[in-house]
Amino acid sequence: MTIDSEKLRQIALELGAADAKWIAVEEVPLNREFRAACESNRCGNYGRNWTCPPEIGDIDELMDEFRTYQNAIIYQTVTPIEDSFDIEGMLAAGENHNRLTAKLRVAYDGYPFTKKLHLGAGGCRVCQRCAKRKNEPCRFPDQAIASLEAYGVSVFELAQKLGMNYVSGQNTVTYFGAFLYSE
Ligand code: SF4
Repeated sequence: MTIDSEKLRQIALELGAADAKWIAVEEVPLNREFRAACESNRCGNYGRNWTCPPEIGDIDELMDEFRTYQNAIIYQTVTPIEDSFDIEGMLAAGENHNRLTAKLRVAYDGYPFTKKLHLGAGGCRVCQRCAKRKNEPCRFPDQAIASLEAYGVSVFELAQKLGMNYVSGQNTVTYFGAFLYSE
């Protein structure tokens, strides 16, 4: 049975994505240089989240794994914030994005994919503080979600390629997610 990618895209939009597009995985721009950005630890998650480097694994192996999938639904959430200092608003934007990912997990669950992978924005946010900070095992390994960048995806280039907004205007936060699947 051929899986209707347009239907998967529509589901993402109906569940709250601001935009969603299908792309063949072989067309997704990957760049191993993103690992250096993670290692600079500007976000503070390096070594402090099970889904971030170095725990997530070698960038070349992850890029190879990424390329084993056939298709991807790329989706985004856009959440308003008060201003660029609105930390609570930014956290709420992350939670908003996580909620959509959780709904997509359920909505896509009934399809006969031969393999599937959800990727999100930044390190996993399922828990308020990742168990890695105390070197404890991941609390929800079935729900943990790694970032597009951890797999080497150039989200900026990808957004350009798909005609999606990388930023969505002043006082908004735009997050991207991806659902990779094979038939
Ligand atoms: S589910 Fe929780 S413990 Fe596991 S990677 Fe995500 S934030 Fe960390």
